[in-house]
Amino acid sequence: MLTAQNLIMGYRRKRIIVCLLVALLTLLLTFGLRFISQRSLNQQRIDAYAQHAVESLDKVLIPVAGKRHELTSLVGQPCENVHLPMRKLAAALQTLRSIALVKSGVLYCSSVFGDRDVILSERQPGLPDPAAKLLLAVDQSLIKGSPILIQWYPASADGEDGVLLSINIHLLSSLLLEPQAPLIKRVIVSVGRQYYSDSQGVSEQLRLADDEQIVTRSSELFPFAISVSTPGATALALADLPAQAPLAVILSLLLAAVSWIATAGRVSFTREIVLGMHKREFELYCQPQLDTRTQQCNGVEILLRWNNPRLGWISPEVFIPVAERENLIAPLTRYVIAETVRQLHYFPRSPHFHIGINVASSHFLQGALLRDVNQYWFAAHPQQQLVLELTERDNLQGVDYRLVRELHRKGVRLAIDDFGTGSSALSWLEQLRPDILKIDKSFTNAIGTDAVNSTVTDIIIALGQRLNIELVAEGVETPQQAHYLRLHGVHFLQGYLYARPMPVAEFPRWLAGGSPPPKAHNGHPLPVIL
Ligand code: C2E
Ligand code: CA
Ligand code: CA
Repeated sequence: MLTAQNLIMGYRRKRIIVCLLVALLTLLLTFGLRFISQRSLNQQRIDAYAQHAVESLDKVLIPVAGKRHELTSLVGQPCENVHLPMRKLAAALQTLRSIALVKSGVLYCSSVFGDRDVILSERQPGLPDPAAKLLLAVDQSLIKGSPILIQWYPASADGEDGVLLSINIHLLSSLLLEPQAPLIKRVIVSVGRQYYSDSQGVSEQLRLADDEQIVTRSSELFPFAISVSTPGATALALADLPAQAPLAVILSLLLAAVSWIATAGRVSFTREIVLGMHKREFELYCQPQLDTRTQQCNGVEILLRWNNPRLGWISPEVFIPVAERENLIAPLTRYVIAETVRQLHYFPRSPHFHIGINVASSHFLQGALLRDVNQYWFAAHPQQQLVLELTERDNLQGVDYRLVRELHRKGVRLAIDDFGTGSSALSWLEQLRPDILKIDKSFTNAIGTDAVNSTVTDIIIALGQRLNIELVAEGVETPQQAHYLRLHGVHFLQGYLYARPMPVAEFPRWLAGGSPPPKAHNGHPLPVIL
């Protein structure tokens, strides 16, 4: 038999597992949610940064573009005449390094150097050009080798005349396109097939490290794009996770503590049941059954009573459902069978005297009830007849009828308890072939008072008689009920009219016709509901 200690340990283990699972789940959930929200936040920030960088460079180029016509109108005029206005303009557009005028492909005037005589195509391949152009280049005149962004505006249809504007991209990138570690590692400006980044300068190729991801946004106003290199929203969110550990740990410990407290109540009651069995706090009562034809008691039903020293008297209506829910009903039934066997000497030693024991349908699973009956009942070779009472409110469909047959074969009789209260179809009657139907006390109670239910009582009686199943009426309290039942052919009666449930040890005195058993036990009215 499963010992009480084993069961207690089992429950404690279950409780610990539940709390650990809660803690683990909270930990995973906190990390998971944190990771998801951080990743989407990172992605938003990266996108916003790239967009902002594009807008910053747009803002630099818009005023330059605004001066296009003013500047192209200067082309062709002598340098000494336009040099001063050009310098003023360059100074006004602060990001401009220089303005140069080109006539017939020759750069003839610069805002920095004044008169010049440089063939533009030699200095800047791809220029002059009939179309406006934006180029990345390396400065060849003022600060040699430094990166510049060139804006070319043609002033003639053949494109040989025009204005060349040099923008200090290096200064711009350090002011406006500053990377933001760890989110943004590098900012790359791309114009056509050329790239500029602080670390690589101007190049034709974009070299990427393995752990770099690129997010690109193009300008809608000018032909350039900004690419930002980032370790990636996911990698950054992962790197951020350890920082969340203290919060996640505190939260999971908190919820684990809450579930420890929440499971305490339930577990402690089941523990009480286990302890009660261990300390033999459960007492066996019996209620006689009468055969009205002989006026003899032909058997008893065993009913459990629990006087818990800490909680007081607890009704079976309270602890039996808890025991069923917590898988304690089989150990409890084992306890009842073993205790009944221990007290068998209180009952008549006759095969015509039956002892009814209540069982739960779940106890039939995997043949457990058959094993227990063999081990605890038949091993003691009792003379009395064993009746197993199975309530109709249980799921009788789940009861393996082969096990029932096996019990039948061994001489055990099967009674369906509380007959008429279940909601199932009656098809199981055919399969289980019970020996006895116990008419529920609500139907007995209805006799003479409740027309509908007493009709049901008649139907149940007719059904039992039709199927040739023995009928027992429960809860018989009045002579009128007994008379009615007898008249309708129900001869086995059980109820307060004959005897209230009594401690097994008092049964011989009752049977001998001595004083009736007390209606209270140790001063406690029975049963007491918790
Ligand atoms: P049950 O099997 O239907 O037991 C009959 C119940 O009706 C008992 O209540 C009994 O005291 C009560 N009773 C008997 N005669 C009368 C009467 O004339 N009038 C009224 N009003 N009631 C009467 P009890 O002992 O409180 O048990 C309640 C239920 O608890 C039982 O209903 C049974 O389902 C369950 N139970 C009790 N002992 C055990 C047990 O050892 N094992 C299992 N599995 N269930 C048990
Ligand atoms: Ca019963
Ligand atoms: Ca009953």
